[in-house]
Amino acid sequence: MLKRILGIFQPRSTPSPQIKLQIIPRDNHSVSRKQISASALKVLYRLNEAGYEAFLVGGSVRDLLLGITPKDFDVATNATPEQVRHVFKNCRLIGRRFRLAHVHFGPEIIEVATFRSSHDKGEESEGRTSDHGQILRDNVYGNQQEDAIRRDFTINALYYSVKDFSVHDYAGGMTDIQQRMLRMIGDPGVRYREDPVRILRVIRFAAKLDFNIAPETANPIPSLGNLLSNVPPARLFDEILKLFMAGHGVKTLHLLMQYGLLGQLVPDTAESLTHHTTGSRLIELALQSTDDRVQAGKPVTPAFLFAALLWPPVQAHYQRLMQGHDMPPMQAMHSAAYEVIERQIKVTALPKRFSIPMREIWEMQLRISKRQGRRSTEMLRHPRFRAAYDFLLLREQSGEHLDNMGKWWTELQRANPNVEIDHSLLSEEGDDERSAPRKKRRRRPRKRPPASQ
Ligand code: ATP
Ligand code: MG
Repeated sequence: MLKRILGIFQPRSTPSPQIKLQIIPRDNHSVSRKQISASALKVLYRLNEAGYEAFLVGGSVRDLLLGITPKDFDVATNATPEQVRHVFKNCRLIGRRFRLAHVHFGPEIIEVATFRSSHDKGEESEGRTSDHGQILRDNVYGNQQEDAIRRDFTINALYYSVKDFSVHDYAGGMTDIQQRMLRMIGDPGVRYREDPVRILRVIRFAAKLDFNIAPETANPIPSLGNLLSNVPPARLFDEILKLFMAGHGVKTLHLLMQYGLLGQLVPDTAESLTHHTTGSRLIELALQSTDDRVQAGKPVTPAFLFAALLWPPVQAHYQRLMQGHDMPPMQAMHSAAYEVIERQIKVTALPKRFSIPMREIWEMQLRISKRQGRRSTEMLRHPRFRAAYDFLLLREQSGEHLDNMGKWWTELQRANPNVEIDHSLLSEEGDDERSAPRKKRRRRPRKRPPASQ
Protein backbone atom coordinates (compact mmCIF):
# COMPACT_ATOMS: atom_id res chain seq x y z
CA MET A 1 0.00 0.00 0.00
CA LEU A 2 2.74 2.42 0.94
CA LYS A 3 4.43 1.79 -2.40
CA ARG A 4 1.81 3.97 -4.04
CA ILE A 5 2.43 6.89 -1.75
CA LEU A 6 2.63 10.12 -3.63
CA GLY A 7 4.15 13.43 -2.83
CA ILE A 8 7.04 12.39 -0.62
CA PHE A 9 9.35 15.28 0.10
CA GLN A 10 11.92 16.40 2.64
CA PRO A 11 11.13 19.40 4.81
CA ARG A 12 13.62 22.25 4.45
CA SER A 13 15.33 21.78 7.79
CA THR A 14 15.33 18.27 9.18
CA PRO A 15 15.52 18.29 12.98
CA SER A 16 16.06 14.55 13.23
CA PRO A 17 16.92 11.87 10.69
CA GLN A 18 13.66 10.13 11.66
CA ILE A 19 11.64 13.03 10.30
CA LYS A 20 10.54 12.83 6.71
CA LEU A 21 7.07 13.92 5.69
CA GLN A 22 5.07 11.40 3.75
CA ILE A 23 1.69 12.44 2.43
CA ILE A 24 -0.56 9.44 2.12
CA PRO A 25 -3.44 10.10 -0.28
CA ARG A 26 -7.04 9.06 0.42
CA ASP A 27 -6.85 5.94 -1.74
CA ASN A 28 -3.98 4.56 0.31
CA HIS A 29 -5.41 4.74 3.81
CA SER A 30 -8.59 3.69 5.55
CA VAL A 31 -9.67 6.87 7.36
CA SER A 32 -13.09 7.83 6.12
CA ARG A 33 -15.08 10.99 6.90
CA LYS A 34 -18.05 8.81 7.80
CA GLN A 35 -16.23 7.62 10.92
CA ILE A 36 -15.38 11.12 12.11
CA SER A 37 -17.66 13.04 14.44
CA ALA A 38 -19.70 15.69 12.63
CA SER A 39 -18.52 18.28 15.16
CA ALA A 40 -14.84 17.51 14.53
CA LEU A 41 -15.45 17.79 10.78
CA LYS A 42 -17.16 21.17 11.28
CA VAL A 43 -14.15 22.45 13.22
CA LEU A 44 -11.73 21.26 10.53
CA TYR A 45 -13.73 22.77 7.65
CA ARG A 46 -14.36 26.08 9.41
CA LEU A 47 -10.70 26.54 10.32
CA ASN A 48 -9.69 25.74 6.73
CA GLU A 49 -12.29 28.21 5.41
CA ALA A 50 -10.86 30.87 7.71
CA GLY A 51 -7.48 30.31 6.07
CA TYR A 52 -5.81 28.14 8.71
CA GLU A 53 -4.30 24.71 8.53
CA ALA A 54 -6.22 22.18 10.60
CA PHE A 55 -5.83 18.45 11.05
CA LEU A 56 -7.36 15.65 13.02
CA VAL A 57 -4.51 14.28 15.07
CA GLY A 58 -3.34 11.85 17.74
CA GLY A 59 -5.37 8.96 19.07
CA SER A 60 -8.33 9.49 16.75
CA VAL A 61 -6.35 9.09 13.49
CA ARG A 62 -4.44 6.15 14.99
CA ASP A 63 -7.60 4.41 16.15
CA LEU A 64 -9.46 4.99 12.87
CA LEU A 65 -6.56 3.45 10.95
CA LEU A 66 -6.77 0.45 13.27
CA GLY A 67 -10.54 0.09 12.95
CA ILE A 68 -11.11 1.15 16.58
CA THR A 69 -13.80 3.69 17.52
CA PRO A 70 -11.91 6.74 18.83
CA LYS A 71 -12.62 8.02 22.36
CA ASP A 72 -12.51 11.61 21.18
CA PHE A 73 -11.37 13.74 18.25
CA ASP A 74 -8.51 16.20 18.72
CA VAL A 75 -7.60 18.91 16.25
CA ALA A 76 -4.22 20.57 15.67
CA THR A 77 -3.94 23.87 13.85
CA ASN A 78 -1.59 26.74 13.06
CA ALA A 79 -4.21 29.20 14.38
CA THR A 80 -3.48 30.56 17.86
CA PRO A 81 -6.11 29.89 20.56
CA GLU A 82 -7.32 33.49 20.25
CA GLN A 83 -7.69 33.09 16.49
CA VAL A 84 -9.63 29.86 17.04
CA ARG A 85 -11.94 31.73 19.41
CA HIS A 86 -12.66 34.28 16.73
CA VAL A 87 -13.76 31.54 14.35
CA PHE A 88 -16.12 29.80 16.82
CA LYS A 89 -18.72 31.39 19.04
CA ASN A 90 -19.07 28.18 21.04
CA CYS A 91 -15.42 28.22 22.10
CA ARG A 92 -13.66 28.49 25.45
CA LEU A 93 -9.96 28.82 26.10
CA ILE A 94 -8.54 26.66 28.85
CA GLY A 95 -5.12 26.01 30.38
CA ARG A 96 -2.68 28.49 31.82
CA ARG A 97 0.79 27.48 30.76
CA PHE A 98 -0.37 26.13 27.46
CA ARG A 99 -3.67 27.45 26.18
CA LEU A 100 -6.07 25.19 24.36
CA ALA A 101 -9.37 25.96 22.66
CA HIS A 102 -12.41 23.88 23.51
CA VAL A 103 -15.14 24.09 20.91
CA HIS A 104 -18.46 22.99 22.43
CA PHE A 105 -21.21 21.16 20.53
CA GLY A 106 -23.77 20.22 23.16
CA PRO A 107 -22.08 17.63 25.35
CA GLU A 108 -19.28 17.05 22.82
CA ILE A 109 -16.07 19.05 23.10
CA ILE A 110 -13.53 19.22 20.31
CA GLU A 111 -10.13 20.16 21.68
CA VAL A 112 -8.17 22.39 19.34
CA ALA A 113 -4.46 22.78 20.04
CA THR A 114 -2.09 25.13 18.30
CA PHE A 115 0.95 23.39 16.80
CA ARG A 116 3.68 23.33 19.43
CA SER A 117 7.31 22.65 19.65
CA SER A 118 8.92 21.23 22.75
CA HIS A 119 12.41 21.50 21.44
CA ASP A 120 15.15 23.74 22.70
CA LYS A 121 15.06 27.19 21.28
CA GLY A 122 18.64 28.41 21.32
CA GLU A 123 21.44 27.48 23.65
CA GLU A 124 20.00 29.06 26.73
CA SER A 125 17.61 26.25 27.48
CA GLU A 126 19.86 23.47 26.28
CA GLY A 127 20.47 20.69 28.75
CA ARG A 128 18.34 22.31 31.45
CA THR A 129 17.53 19.55 33.94
CA SER A 130 15.52 19.31 37.13
CA ASP A 131 17.05 18.17 40.41
CA HIS A 132 15.83 14.70 39.53
CA GLY A 133 17.60 14.60 36.19
CA GLN A 134 14.41 15.29 34.24
CA ILE A 135 15.09 17.35 31.16
CA LEU A 136 13.07 20.55 31.21
CA ARG A 137 11.98 22.09 27.97
CA ASP A 138 9.48 24.80 27.43
CA ASN A 139 6.41 24.26 25.34
CA VAL A 140 6.20 26.94 22.68
CA TYR A 141 4.14 27.33 19.54
CA GLY A 142 5.73 25.73 16.52
CA ASN A 143 5.03 24.51 13.02
CA GLN A 144 3.38 21.24 12.06
CA GLN A 145 6.66 19.37 11.80
CA GLU A 146 7.76 20.50 15.25
CA ASP A 147 4.34 19.56 16.56
CA ALA A 148 4.78 16.06 15.14
CA ILE A 149 8.16 15.38 16.70
CA ARG A 150 7.18 16.54 20.17
CA ARG A 151 4.50 13.86 20.24
CA ASP A 152 5.29 10.58 21.95
CA PHE A 153 4.91 7.69 19.50
CA THR A 154 5.15 7.55 15.72
CA ILE A 155 1.58 6.18 15.57
CA ASN A 156 0.33 9.21 17.54
CA ALA A 157 1.89 11.70 15.10
CA LEU A 158 -0.41 11.19 12.12
CA TYR A 159 -2.46 14.13 10.80
CA TYR A 160 -5.64 13.82 8.75
CA SER A 161 -6.64 16.69 6.47
CA VAL A 162 -10.13 17.42 5.15
CA LYS A 163 -8.65 19.53 2.33
CA ASP A 164 -7.66 16.47 0.34
CA PHE A 165 -8.40 13.64 2.83
CA SER A 166 -4.72 12.74 3.02
CA VAL A 167 -2.80 11.61 6.08
CA HIS A 168 0.43 13.45 6.87
CA ASP A 169 3.00 11.20 8.45
CA TYR A 170 6.22 12.77 9.75
CA ALA A 171 7.64 9.94 11.79
CA GLY A 172 6.90 6.69 9.97
CA GLY A 173 3.75 6.07 11.97
CA MET A 174 1.91 4.48 9.05
CA THR A 175 4.51 1.72 8.70
CA ASP A 176 4.43 1.19 12.46
CA ILE A 177 0.62 0.93 12.37
CA GLN A 178 0.95 -1.76 9.72
CA GLN A 179 3.66 -3.55 11.66
CA ARG A 180 1.79 -3.07 14.93
CA MET A 181 4.80 -1.49 16.54
CA LEU A 182 4.97 1.11 19.29
CA ARG A 183 8.00 3.31 18.67
CA MET A 184 9.01 6.46 20.52
CA ILE A 185 9.86 9.46 18.36
CA GLY A 186 13.43 10.63 18.98
CA ASP A 187 15.77 9.19 21.59
CA PRO A 188 13.58 7.16 23.97
CA GLY A 189 15.85 7.73 26.98
CA VAL A 190 15.69 11.50 26.48
CA ARG A 191 11.92 11.42 25.91
CA TYR A 192 11.31 9.40 29.11
CA ARG A 193 13.41 11.85 31.10
CA GLU A 194 11.48 14.78 29.62
CA ASP A 195 8.23 13.24 30.78
CA PRO A 196 8.32 9.96 32.74
CA VAL A 197 4.57 9.45 32.21
CA ARG A 198 5.55 8.36 28.68
CA ILE A 199 6.85 5.16 30.33
CA LEU A 200 3.30 4.39 31.42
CA ARG A 201 1.92 5.44 28.03
CA VAL A 202 4.09 2.78 26.38
CA ILE A 203 2.49 0.14 28.59
CA ARG A 204 -1.00 1.56 28.11
CA PHE A 205 -0.88 1.61 24.32
CA ALA A 206 0.91 -1.77 24.08
CA ALA A 207 -1.98 -3.26 26.10
CA LYS A 208 -4.79 -1.33 24.43
CA LEU A 209 -3.65 -1.84 20.86
CA ASP A 210 -1.95 -5.20 21.36
CA PHE A 211 1.19 -3.79 19.75
CA ASN A 212 4.80 -4.88 20.18
CA ILE A 213 7.19 -2.38 21.69
CA ALA A 214 10.22 -1.55 19.54
CA PRO A 215 13.38 -2.77 21.32
CA GLU A 216 14.98 0.69 21.56
CA THR A 217 11.71 2.02 23.06
CA ALA A 218 11.43 -0.87 25.53
CA ASN A 219 15.05 -1.24 26.62
CA PRO A 220 15.45 1.91 28.78
CA ILE A 221 12.21 1.32 30.70
CA PRO A 222 13.42 -0.94 33.54
CA SER A 223 16.28 1.41 34.42
CA LEU A 224 14.22 4.62 34.14
CA GLY A 225 11.05 3.42 35.89
CA ASN A 226 12.14 5.17 39.10
CA LEU A 227 11.65 8.56 37.36
CA LEU A 228 7.95 8.01 37.94
CA SER A 229 8.52 8.92 41.58
CA ASN A 230 8.90 12.55 40.39
CA VAL A 231 5.44 12.63 38.83
CA PRO A 232 2.87 14.47 40.97
CA PRO A 233 0.42 12.07 42.75
CA ALA A 234 -2.62 13.65 41.07
CA ARG A 235 -1.23 12.96 37.59
CA LEU A 236 -0.27 9.40 38.54
CA PHE A 237 -3.79 8.80 39.84
CA ASP A 238 -5.20 9.85 36.45
CA GLU A 239 -2.73 7.59 34.70
CA ILE A 240 -3.47 4.60 36.90
CA LEU A 241 -7.17 4.92 36.04
CA LYS A 242 -6.34 5.07 32.33
CA LEU A 243 -4.13 2.01 32.76
CA PHE A 244 -6.59 -0.15 34.67
CA MET A 245 -10.03 1.11 33.77
CA ALA A 246 -9.93 1.21 29.98
CA GLY A 247 -10.81 -2.44 29.39
CA HIS A 248 -7.29 -3.88 29.13
CA GLY A 249 -6.39 -4.06 32.79
CA VAL A 250 -5.16 -7.66 32.95
CA LYS A 251 -2.78 -7.24 30.05
CA THR A 252 -1.62 -3.91 31.48
CA LEU A 253 -0.91 -5.52 34.86
CA HIS A 254 1.22 -8.21 33.24
CA LEU A 255 3.19 -5.63 31.25
CA LEU A 256 3.71 -3.44 34.31
CA MET A 257 5.04 -6.45 36.19
CA GLN A 258 7.20 -7.53 33.26
CA TYR A 259 8.84 -4.10 33.13
CA GLY A 260 9.21 -3.80 36.90
CA LEU A 261 6.80 -0.84 37.10
CA LEU A 262 4.10 -2.04 39.49
CA GLY A 263 6.18 -0.89 42.45
CA GLN A 264 6.21 2.64 41.02
CA LEU A 265 2.42 2.80 41.20
CA VAL A 266 1.47 0.67 44.20
CA PRO A 267 4.73 0.09 46.10
CA ASP A 268 3.26 -1.71 49.13
CA THR A 269 1.28 -4.02 46.85
CA ALA A 270 4.32 -4.88 44.74
CA GLU A 271 6.21 -5.66 47.94
CA SER A 272 3.39 -7.89 49.30
CA LEU A 273 3.11 -9.76 46.02
CA THR A 274 6.69 -10.95 46.34
CA HIS A 275 5.48 -13.03 49.33
CA HIS A 276 1.87 -13.94 48.49
CA THR A 277 0.50 -15.33 45.25
CA THR A 278 -3.18 -15.15 46.22
CA GLY A 279 -2.86 -11.34 46.23
CA SER A 280 -1.83 -11.15 42.59
CA ARG A 281 -4.61 -13.59 41.64
CA LEU A 282 -7.15 -11.37 43.43
CA ILE A 283 -5.91 -8.31 41.55
CA GLU A 284 -6.03 -10.17 38.24
CA LEU A 285 -9.58 -11.32 38.92
CA ALA A 286 -10.68 -7.81 39.87
CA LEU A 287 -9.11 -6.44 36.69
CA GLN A 288 -10.71 -9.19 34.61
CA SER A 289 -14.10 -8.29 36.03
CA THR A 290 -13.41 -4.58 35.36
CA ASP A 291 -12.35 -5.42 31.78
CA ASP A 292 -15.52 -7.45 31.26
CA ARG A 293 -17.68 -4.62 32.58
CA VAL A 294 -15.95 -2.04 30.37
CA GLN A 295 -16.34 -4.29 27.30
CA ALA A 296 -20.03 -4.67 28.14
CA GLY A 297 -20.39 -0.88 28.41
CA LYS A 298 -21.05 -1.02 32.15
CA PRO A 299 -19.65 1.63 34.49
CA VAL A 300 -16.79 0.82 36.86
CA THR A 301 -15.48 2.52 39.96
CA PRO A 302 -11.96 3.27 41.17
CA ALA A 303 -13.14 2.39 44.73
CA PHE A 304 -13.48 -1.30 43.84
CA LEU A 305 -10.30 -1.28 41.75
CA PHE A 306 -8.22 0.25 44.56
CA ALA A 307 -9.86 -2.04 47.12
CA ALA A 308 -8.39 -4.97 45.17
CA LEU A 309 -5.07 -3.30 44.32
CA LEU A 310 -4.33 -2.45 47.94
CA TRP A 311 -5.83 -5.53 49.57
CA PRO A 312 -2.57 -7.53 49.75
CA PRO A 313 -0.75 -4.95 51.93
CA VAL A 314 -3.92 -4.19 53.95
CA GLN A 315 -4.30 -7.84 54.74
CA ALA A 316 -0.63 -8.22 55.65
CA HIS A 317 -0.81 -5.21 58.04
CA TYR A 318 -4.09 -6.45 59.46
CA GLN A 319 -2.65 -9.86 60.27
CA ARG A 320 0.42 -8.27 61.83
CA LEU A 321 -1.65 -5.96 64.04
CA MET A 322 -3.92 -8.79 65.17
CA GLN A 323 -1.17 -11.26 65.88
CA GLY A 324 1.73 -9.08 66.98
CA HIS A 325 -0.24 -6.36 68.80
CA ASP A 326 -3.27 -8.32 69.91
CA MET A 327 -5.62 -5.71 68.44
CA PRO A 328 -9.34 -6.50 68.06
CA PRO A 329 -10.20 -7.28 64.39
CA MET A 330 -12.17 -4.14 63.50
CA GLN A 331 -9.58 -1.86 65.09
CA ALA A 332 -6.79 -3.75 63.30
CA MET A 333 -8.63 -3.35 59.98
CA HIS A 334 -9.12 0.41 60.60
CA SER A 335 -5.46 0.89 61.40
CA ALA A 336 -4.21 -1.27 58.53
CA ALA A 337 -6.42 0.61 56.07
CA TYR A 338 -5.29 3.96 57.45
CA GLU A 339 -1.61 3.06 57.21
CA VAL A 340 -1.80 1.67 53.69
CA ILE A 341 -3.83 4.62 52.39
CA GLU A 342 -1.52 7.16 54.01
CA ARG A 343 1.44 5.59 52.24
CA GLN A 344 -0.36 5.17 48.91
CA ILE A 345 -1.51 8.79 48.64
CA LYS A 346 2.10 9.92 48.65
CA VAL A 347 2.42 8.06 45.33
CA THR A 348 -0.96 8.37 43.66
CA ALA A 349 -3.71 10.65 44.86
CA LEU A 350 -6.83 8.79 45.97
CA PRO A 351 -9.77 11.16 46.37
CA LYS A 352 -11.98 10.65 49.42
CA ARG A 353 -15.00 9.83 47.30
CA PHE A 354 -13.16 6.64 46.37
CA SER A 355 -11.08 5.94 49.48
CA ILE A 356 -14.08 6.06 51.85
CA PRO A 357 -16.14 3.41 50.02
CA MET A 358 -12.94 1.42 49.48
CA ARG A 359 -12.40 1.23 53.26
CA GLU A 360 -16.00 0.23 53.70
CA ILE A 361 -15.51 -2.71 51.33
CA TRP A 362 -12.54 -3.81 53.45
CA GLU A 363 -14.32 -3.32 56.76
CA MET A 364 -17.38 -5.19 55.51
CA GLN A 365 -15.13 -8.19 54.85
CA LEU A 366 -14.99 -8.73 58.61
CA ARG A 367 -18.75 -8.50 58.94
CA ILE A 368 -19.59 -10.81 56.08
CA SER A 369 -16.99 -13.44 56.77
CA LYS A 370 -19.19 -14.91 59.47
CA ARG A 371 -22.79 -16.05 59.55
CA GLN A 372 -24.83 -13.58 61.52
CA GLY A 373 -28.17 -15.31 62.00
CA ARG A 374 -31.15 -12.97 61.72
CA ARG A 375 -28.94 -9.92 61.23
CA SER A 376 -27.59 -11.41 57.99
CA THR A 377 -30.73 -10.55 56.05
CA GLU A 378 -30.41 -6.99 57.29
CA MET A 379 -26.85 -6.98 56.00
CA LEU A 380 -28.18 -7.55 52.48
CA ARG A 381 -29.66 -4.06 52.65
CA HIS A 382 -26.37 -2.46 53.60
CA PRO A 383 -25.41 0.08 50.89
CA ARG A 384 -21.98 -1.52 50.54
CA PHE A 385 -23.16 -5.12 50.68
CA ARG A 386 -23.09 -5.82 46.95
CA ALA A 387 -19.56 -4.51 46.47
CA ALA A 388 -18.33 -6.25 49.63
CA TYR A 389 -19.98 -9.52 48.53
CA ASP A 390 -18.41 -9.28 45.04
CA PHE A 391 -15.09 -8.66 46.75
CA LEU A 392 -15.58 -11.69 48.99
CA LEU A 393 -16.23 -13.86 45.92
CA LEU A 394 -13.02 -12.61 44.32
CA ARG A 395 -11.09 -13.43 47.49
CA GLU A 396 -12.43 -16.98 47.44
CA GLN A 397 -11.74 -17.41 43.75
CA SER A 398 -8.19 -16.21 44.30
CA GLY A 399 -7.61 -19.06 46.74
CA GLU A 400 -8.42 -17.61 50.18
CA HIS A 401 -10.23 -20.11 52.38
CA LEU A 402 -13.22 -18.33 53.82
CA ASP A 403 -15.35 -21.21 55.01
CA ASN A 404 -17.52 -21.08 51.86
CA MET A 405 -19.01 -17.78 52.94
CA GLY A 406 -19.45 -16.64 49.32
CA LYS A 407 -21.79 -19.56 48.63
CA TRP A 408 -23.59 -18.91 51.89
CA TRP A 409 -24.31 -15.27 51.01
CA THR A 410 -25.31 -16.28 47.48
CA GLU A 411 -27.88 -18.67 48.91
CA LEU A 412 -29.09 -16.13 51.43
CA GLN A 413 -29.75 -13.68 48.59
CA ARG A 414 -31.62 -16.37 46.64
CA ALA A 415 -33.74 -17.12 49.67
CA ASN A 416 -34.59 -13.41 50.02
CA PRO A 417 -35.49 -12.33 46.51
CA ASN A 418 -37.49 -9.39 47.83
CA VAL A 419 -34.57 -7.76 49.58
CA GLU A 420 -33.42 -4.91 47.45
CA ILE A 421 -29.65 -4.87 47.02
CA ASP A 422 -27.80 -1.67 46.41
CA HIS A 423 -25.37 -1.94 43.48
CA SER A 424 -24.42 1.69 43.50
CA LEU A 425 -20.85 1.25 44.63
CA LEU A 426 -20.08 -0.80 41.56
CA SER A 427 -20.31 2.35 39.53
CA GLU A 428 -18.88 5.74 40.16
CA GLU A 429 -22.12 7.64 39.98
CA GLY A 430 -24.28 4.90 41.35
CA ASP A 431 -26.00 4.56 38.00
CA ASP A 432 -25.21 0.94 37.39
CA GLU A 433 -27.82 -0.44 35.04
CA ARG A 434 -27.75 -3.75 36.90
CA SER A 435 -29.26 -2.07 39.89
CA ALA A 436 -32.97 -1.98 40.39
CA PRO A 437 -34.41 1.49 40.87
CA ARG A 438 -33.61 2.37 44.43
CA LYS A 439 -36.20 3.46 46.91
CA LYS A 440 -35.37 5.99 49.53
CA ARG A 441 -34.81 4.33 52.84
CA ARG A 442 -33.59 5.34 56.19
CA ARG A 443 -30.11 4.25 57.04
CA ARG A 444 -28.90 3.61 60.49
CA PRO A 445 -26.06 6.01 61.25
CA ARG A 446 -22.78 4.26 60.69
CA LYS A 447 -19.50 5.02 62.35
CA ARG A 448 -17.30 7.16 60.17
CA PRO A 449 -13.91 5.63 59.48
CA PRO A 450 -11.09 7.37 61.36
CA ALA A 451 -8.88 9.99 59.76
CA SER A 452 -9.64 10.49 56.13
CA GLN A 453 -7.36 11.25 53.27
P1 ATP B 1 -6.40 7.83 23.91
O1 ATP B 1 -7.15 7.05 22.93
O2 ATP B 1 -6.05 7.06 25.12
O3 ATP B 1 -7.00 9.18 24.22
P2 ATP B 1 -4.39 9.44 22.68
O4 ATP B 1 -3.21 9.07 21.82
O5 ATP B 1 -5.42 10.32 22.07
O6 ATP B 1 -5.00 8.09 23.21
P3 ATP B 1 -4.09 11.47 24.65
O7 ATP B 1 -3.57 11.35 26.03
O8 ATP B 1 -5.50 11.87 24.44
O9 ATP B 1 -3.79 10.08 23.96
O10 ATP B 1 -3.14 12.48 23.89
C1 ATP B 1 -3.42 12.99 22.58
C2 ATP B 1 -2.12 13.08 21.80
O11 ATP B 1 -1.23 14.01 22.43
C3 ATP B 1 -1.32 11.79 21.70
O12 ATP B 1 -1.76 10.99 20.61
C4 ATP B 1 0.09 12.29 21.50
O13 ATP B 1 0.30 12.65 20.17
C5 ATP B 1 0.11 13.55 22.35
N1 ATP B 1 0.59 13.29 23.72
C6 ATP B 1 -0.17 13.06 24.82
N2 ATP B 1 0.57 12.90 25.92
C7 ATP B 1 1.85 13.03 25.52
C8 ATP B 1 3.10 12.99 26.20
N3 ATP B 1 3.19 12.76 27.50
N4 ATP B 1 4.22 13.20 25.45
C9 ATP B 1 4.14 13.46 24.13
N5 ATP B 1 3.00 13.50 23.44
C10 ATP B 1 1.86 13.29 24.12
MG1 MG C 1 -7.12 11.17 23.12
